Amino acid sequence: MLEKLAVYGGTTVHDGNWPNWPQCTENTRRNINAVLGSHRWSISGQYRGQSSWEERFGQAFALYTGAGYCVPTSTGTASLSMALEACEVGAYDEVIVPGVSWVASASAVLGINAIPVLTDVEPETGCLDPEALERAITSRTRAITVVHLGSAVANLDRLVAIAKAHSIPLIEDCAQAHGARYAGRHVGCFGAAGTFSMQHSKLLTSGEGGAVITDDAVLARRLAHLRADGRTLSAQPPGMDEMALVESAEIMGSNYCLSEFHAAILVAQLEALDEQLAHRRSNAAVLDRYLVSLGCLPQATAPRTTERSHYTYVVRLPQSIVETQGAECFAAALSAEIRLPCKTMYSALNENRLYKPLSRNRFGLGKEFTDAVDPYRYQLPVAKEFSRSCIALPHRMLLADPNAIELVAAAFEKVVRLIVNNRGA
Ligand SMILES: *Cc1c(COP(=O)(O)O)cnc(C)c1O
Repeated sequence: MLEKLAVYGGTTVHDGNWPNWPQCTENTRRNINAVLGSHRWSISGQYRGQSSWEERFGQAFALYTGAGYCVPTSTGTASLSMALEACEVGAYDEVIVPGVSWVASASAVLGINAIPVLTDVEPETGCLDPEALERAITSRTRAITVVHLGSAVANLDRLVAIAKAHSIPLIEDCAQAHGARYAGRHVGCFGAAGTFSMQHSKLLTSGEGGAVITDDAVLARRLAHLRADGRTLSAQPPGMDEMALVESAEIMGSNYCLSEFHAAILVAQLEALDEQLAHRRSNAAVLDRYLVSLGCLPQATAPRTTERSHYTYVVRLPQSIVETQGAECFAAALSAEIRLPCKTMYSALNENRLYKPLSRNRFGLGKEFTDAVDPYRYQLPVAKEFSRSCIALPHRMLLADPNAIELVAAAFEKVVRLIVNNRGA
């Protein structure tokens, strides 16, 4: 009998019984219950005799990453906007944004009325290309944002050197790279600030959430103001039932506070992070070897990466398949074989259907601005090719037992072999 692809009604390679994400731990449940009974559900609630979970998480995450300061926030998008504003970036300023990322990398820049300058990426990592960065810098560039994409760390040596040479602050968007390390240090510690998202899909999550880390005390103080409407937490513990936030008002802020529930979840989830990352890392290394033998090219990372973290397992498909069937068709066939949603990579931001600055009236800031934010003014050939030829598998796949990883490899082999002319007839 002819072997059939599952997408055409054949037998699947894996039964779809994958690990779940997120994973609730005993301490996660315990911490949530503690908040429920605490009568303090936000840092803006009255002090009840204990430091807030928000402060505890901030301290734990600073300790984990080795950063001097950590300000928890409500989302990754808020983290990015806050980090930019803390660096005094604002209206009409240009901010470098890599051409392949989640839309928030660009929309967070627009969110402070600055101009995202979409810049091309490296073909092997999909991260900001140092040479394209050099070309994109102008006299109006006020910040460089770098995304550690998928399972890669960007080339920090070169990117940091360029930022320094031009005296422009560099912000690492680490929403996909919790726990990744470069030259032995955690990502997020190489520039002015590092931003994180703790949204549901991320490697450390409370459903929604975020954080900014920095070594700079002045930035940290601005970040604290920005997240709590111009208020900061008092240095001394306040009296019982008094407000812990004081109206220091050095700058105006917004409400980007992480709730006590989210912070309590993150304190518990952080305890499990390193073990999960190590599990994914060892499975990914096995899968890399199988896929290379099939003519696929697993995403590369910058040479001095010491620990990768895998938000998505990104792999470039053989060119012959990209040209004939396309990555979307391959992803659908693979998804059916392993009963796990595998996707094509994000479209390059200049072609991304979610990136539509001119669909919002708030950006009607005059012709100069609307021209500057028009995505059609960009050419991002490498980003486009990266998006067209790569697929991304979700990180919960890598939390499975090693034998399941062999089935993923077997599914790739089956799809590579049969997709070109198999309809299973
Ligand atoms: C998820 C993500 C964000 C945005 O985070 P939210 O918490 O969803 O606001 C920003 N940048 C990158 C690279 C992301 O993956």
